[in-house]
Amino acid sequence: MSSKASIAAPSTPKREPLSSSVYDELGLERNPDNLYLQTLDAMLCAAEILEVPHHIQLILSQPKNEIMVHFPVEMDSGEYCLFKGYRVQHNNALGPYKGGIRYHPHVSLDDVKSLSLLMTMKCSLVRVPFGGGKGGIKCDPRALSFTELRRVSRRFISAISTQIGPDVDIPAPDVGTNSQIMAWFADTYLNITQGLIGNDSMAVVTGKPLEMGGSLGREKATGQGVIDVLAELLPEIGLSIAEATCSLIGYGNVGSWAGKLFTERGGKVKAVMDHTGAIYNEGGLDAIALDDHVRTHGGVAGFEKEHAAEAITEDQFYAVPVDVFIPAALEQMITAEKADLINCKIVAEAANAPTTPAGENILLAKGIEVLPAILCSAGGVTVSYFEWVQNRSNSYWDAEKVDEELNRHMVLAARRTQLAKHRYNVDMRTAAYIGALEQIASVYKLRGIFP
Ligand code: GLU
Repeated sequence: MSSKASIAAPSTPKREPLSSSVYDELGLERNPDNLYLQTLDAMLCAAEILEVPHHIQLILSQPKNEIMVHFPVEMDSGEYCLFKGYRVQHNNALGPYKGGIRYHPHVSLDDVKSLSLLMTMKCSLVRVPFGGGKGGIKCDPRALSFTELRRVSRRFISAISTQIGPDVDIPAPDVGTNSQIMAWFADTYLNITQGLIGNDSMAVVTGKPLEMGGSLGREKATGQGVIDVLAELLPEIGLSIAEATCSLIGYGNVGSWAGKLFTERGGKVKAVMDHTGAIYNEGGLDAIALDDHVRTHGGVAGFEKEHAAEAITEDQFYAVPVDVFIPAALEQMITAEKADLINCKIVAEAANAPTTPAGENILLAKGIEVLPAILCSAGGVTVSYFEWVQNRSNSYWDAEKVDEELNRHMVLAARRTQLAKHRYNVDMRTAAYIGALEQIASVYKLRGIFP
């Protein structure tokens, strides 16, 4: 291993619980299990170090708008179901609110609030001119038929149609949604606003199918962004992707692209786990065959029956020695218990908020650095920005240009984070928030508070 300064300096300080008066002023309780408060804590910790003025800390501590809607949908059986949907618009100081819409049975207001704050920070860190938002519908998309999914999607967008728009708030895919759902969102919005803003309506949503104004490279963008960050930062610990190993939680869009691109660059994916099981191969799994298997069978389980791999338990999966551990599934999977088992040099958060604060402190104490979601998972929204630019200029980029521009944003964000880490002697999560806050705090100072 090289003798260069490592990302995970052994002295990486752990984050102490905050004593910020913001909590009392906003009447917020201190609950380490609440996702919104966890995200807030990380942001305020960085804000204190950066000496962000108190009023800006207060503004960033609450979303601007929290929209909650209930809407009925006729099911295929002829019965009616009432659905609950959210759109939280966290901040628009840098540009229109931006962020995905997820379909999941456990979607809750606090989770969506947390994810919208993450989006504000993500966009600011990678310097795309958007604010942060997030939305969701409390539903199980796997239990809905194609036509039910279409009616649910259309009804939700019509319910929030006055609150979104290409210059106002721009939804995108997230957990449980895809380009087909974005096509329905765009079509619904277009029908509702017809004649009012013309062709520009298409830019109301990103992550659309290519034929409908989507961008080349958008589907793989989040996975690609993870690889761009690793390619930039792994040399800091004397490694390159070509000689590195990794394990992955989740093999959906983000996980499968991260796995395929990691392999394409010569690295080995040693283990993968999802909701159906866990598989392992010391010499590296076939990432492309695994992608095919997951598409056909709905998960990684059973891959070992036809390919070089063995099934392992969840605890065995976490303990597989690798260079990079990549959580690319849901939030809060790396608990203290799992962090105890993890045996890697770097955790690269491809999913939003996959690490609990207790889990993170254990990782840092073990000398494992955590590359935070606002850096690692920012590739998706970056290419969403390119899609929006292409829609609005009516001129379309080739795949090389998308890759090149994405790489430029990701590399600069990684360097910005690295710089803040060394300048302020903090962990990478705090450093990434500092990199994000530098931009947004300075914009607030320049703009002032209206009137
Ligand atoms: N849902 C993705 C995220 O969490 C993408 C958001 C977007 O493209 O606007 O970053």
